[in-house]
Amino acid sequence: METVALIVAGGRGVRAGGGMPKQYRPLAGRPLLRHTIACFARHPEIDAIRVVIHPDDAALYAAAASGFDLLAPVHGGALRQDSSRNGLESLVEHNPVNVLIHDAARPFADAGVISRVIGALSDDTPAALAALPVSDTLKRADAQARVTGTVDRAALWRAQTPQGFRYAAIIAAHRAMAGRDLTDDAAVAEAAGLAVQLVPGSPDNIKVTMPEDFSYGERYLAAGATGGEYRTATGFDVHPFKPGDHVMLCGVNVPHDFGLAGHSDSDVGLHALTDALLGTIGAGDIGSHFPPSDPQWRGADSAVFLSHAAKLVNAAGATLRHVDVTLICEVPKIGPHRDAMREKLAAILALPIDRISVKATTTDGLGFLGRREGIAAQAAATVMFA
Ligand code: MG
Repeated sequence: METVALIVAGGRGVRAGGGMPKQYRPLAGRPLLRHTIACFARHPEIDAIRVVIHPDDAALYAAAASGFDLLAPVHGGALRQDSSRNGLESLVEHNPVNVLIHDAARPFADAGVISRVIGALSDDTPAALAALPVSDTLKRADAQARVTGTVDRAALWRAQTPQGFRYAAIIAAHRAMAGRDLTDDAAVAEAAGLAVQLVPGSPDNIKVTMPEDFSYGERYLAAGATGGEYRTATGFDVHPFKPGDHVMLCGVNVPHDFGLAGHSDSDVGLHALTDALLGTIGAGDIGSHFPPSDPQWRGADSAVFLSHAAKLVNAAGATLRHVDVTLICEVPKIGPHRDAMREKLAAILALPIDRISVKATTTDGLGFLGRREGIAAQAAATVMFA
């Protein structure tokens, strides 16, 4: 294994409010830790991720990490340094070349920061960390906040995480420094005499500490300035009419003079939308997940396909933001059912109804749809990688 990310989430930090450790408090609807994990889960140079947790937090962790393919969590210790060391010891069997140690409370570590830390590591430079030069003027003051001097900031940097290390070097340093009270892993490396390189961090890579940091984080995510990205993908499907008395469209039973032929319940709307969701994460198409040849899907409720695709999107670290379905047919009339369809999609996708669009059109009598031989649907889905 080349590079492992170790996310330290064992703290009790309650200054952020909310009655639970801050790394599990929701940020834009998902636990803070989930955002942090996603930063590393989507980075191509990270081969495995392990989270160090407090023994009391197993259930909170399971919820925050669900769907991600992670190494089993390990328990932290009394001090931050103990937690790092426990995490490092747990990696002995994997013996990675590099390890990146990261604070759970920094949910916006972008791919560039992670790449720069990894890129700086070499046998000559066994330690590197993200940092920013200090740009504010620094004052020294007494207990009454009376200025006693101005500090030269020229050589001062603010340390962030991730902090990256050659694994063999940092585990040896941690073992040697056990019991000493050092503030971060880089300080352990420094104390052990390792060369430590600074690489540019990011001003967005904030440490969420106080309640106002959560509001900042929510605004930041809402603005889409995540260092992540938005992706939109489309889906398309057609099913022919067959004898019957209703069609399933976007999960709604619409009475009609015909039914729709096909495997499952032939819900073209849900099929097109399922393909759109899969498209946002490059996860193939509905047929590759639910082969038409598999008898277990005969007559199946297509909501199963859509909710599976939604789970895969979530597991990929993305959040569904918007869906749009267009049904194309001469008959039946869609308008009277449109709101029921939107409500059904809202329920399947756990998405607010104002982020769901269902439209309908005809082909003005042209082609197979115009000849009333079946129904087509096209769909678009937009996700945000946070
Ligand atoms: Mg289909």
